[in-house]
Amino acid sequence: MEFSSKLLENAVNEMSQLPGIGKRTALRLMLHLLRQPKEQTSDLSKALSNMRNDIKLCKNCNNISDNDLCEICANPNRLEDIVCVVEDIRDVMAIENTSSFRGLYHVLGGKISPMDGIGPNDLNIQPLVKKVKSGKITELIFALGSTMEGDTTNFYIYKQIQEFKVKTSTIARGISVGNELEYTDEVTLGRSIINRIPFEASLKS
Ligand SMILES: [Zn+2]
Repeated sequence: MEFSSKLLENAVNEMSQLPGIGKRTALRLMLHLLRQPKEQTSDLSKALSNMRNDIKLCKNCNNISDNDLCEICANPNRLEDIVCVVEDIRDVMAIENTSSFRGLYHVLGGKISPMDGIGPNDLNIQPLVKKVKSGKITELIFALGSTMEGDTTNFYIYKQIQEFKVKTSTIARGISVGNELEYTDEVTLGRSIINRIPFEASLKS
């Protein structure tokens, strides 16, 4: 792509590093910004750098948060002893949208995936084991979706905490195989949390 402006070329190159955005799309977006008032671009860049610089991870659940404790963990009406294990904030948002869950979350930050070089130590698993060990949790709900990576991760955590007295369950198999939680409709997802099954039973099926 030949540019008549280095400034435009730099902006297009930066933008096209984002996933799903090729050079053509990046160019279209930049030309759009150039047609808008300058404030729009400065608001956009301010929002991006504020987000990047100021965002935190909740020190209890590892969810993305503006404060040391996320709004869910800080809410006294949530049930602290029931913890739902999820991959990332998109799953938290999907489950929150169902209004079917009143416990807390534990965000792993990914799933075990040897193909991608992601092992248990790359994920936020040990803090979860520690929480279970402390005896404050009565039930752990695995909600990682039914992919092979999800199953592997569930099973790994299950093995780590098996010796402690904690009930384990998994969201019901209404969630079809390979479906990520965020794409499952709210009613199905909500129902699968309410009708969750003991984790041991899911191993036999
Ligand atoms: Zn939290």
